[in-house]
Amino acid sequence: MKRLLEENLDKVIQNIESARLSVSGHHIVKLVAVSKYSDVKAIEMMYQCGQRAFGENQVQQLESRALELENLPLEWHFQGSLQKNKINKLIDIKPSLIHSLDSIELAIALNERLSIKNQKMNCLLQINSSNEDTKSGVNIDKAKDIYQEILERCENINLKGVMSIGAMDNNLTQKSFEDTYKIYQELPNATICSMGMSGDYELAIRCGSNLVRVGSALFGNKNV
Ligand SMILES: *Cc1c(COP(=O)(O)O)cnc(C)c1O
Repeated sequence: MKRLLEENLDKVIQNIESARLSVSGHHIVKLVAVSKYSDVKAIEMMYQCGQRAFGENQVQQLESRALELENLPLEWHFQGSLQKNKINKLIDIKPSLIHSLDSIELAIALNERLSIKNQKMNCLLQINSSNEDTKSGVNIDKAKDIYQEILERCENINLKGVMSIGAMDNNLTQKSFEDTYKIYQELPNATICSMGMSGDYELAIRCGSNLVRVGSALFGNKNV
């Protein structure tokens, strides 16, 4: 098991390396290992292979795993859709980054709870760059305005950049990444452009992504 995880990790790191070097030697890319399909044992093994940042989609699962592995110096990311009734729980877990701020309403609700608890949170604005009904995120045409509004209205949110999921249609994936990257570049002080999953992280990096969220290619629970 550990051997397989190590091979997967090495392969993904090599792919990231060649993709980022094709952009520039100075283009540094962070890897977040999405552990949602996997279990605590596998996360621990990934940690032993050198991986530090892990991502989850469900507040409940993030909470139990963060607690169970609290003795390891892990960095937790949350990238799932966030229901308002789970906000307090998520704040208490103190994740390193929330990727999935997907509306101004959610930002305001999160900001309110954060200010009550006197805490700050690093967040990304999720953009629905492919305009698919099934995806969360703000409309690409409104993304810049909403980003600005969050900056102005939500003091307890440290807005760090954007997240997007590539278009399902392979012919449109590249364009959805390029469109997101274009917006990212125009945002004030944005430093994180989170794009790319198991099926498209190399393409995402070539389009400017500096954070990839890779699950099944690492943990192998899906055919990729
Ligand atoms: C599940 C998920 C991932 C990882 O997906 P894989 O295709 O398994 O790499 C990345 N980002 C988000 C938002 C996800 O929901």
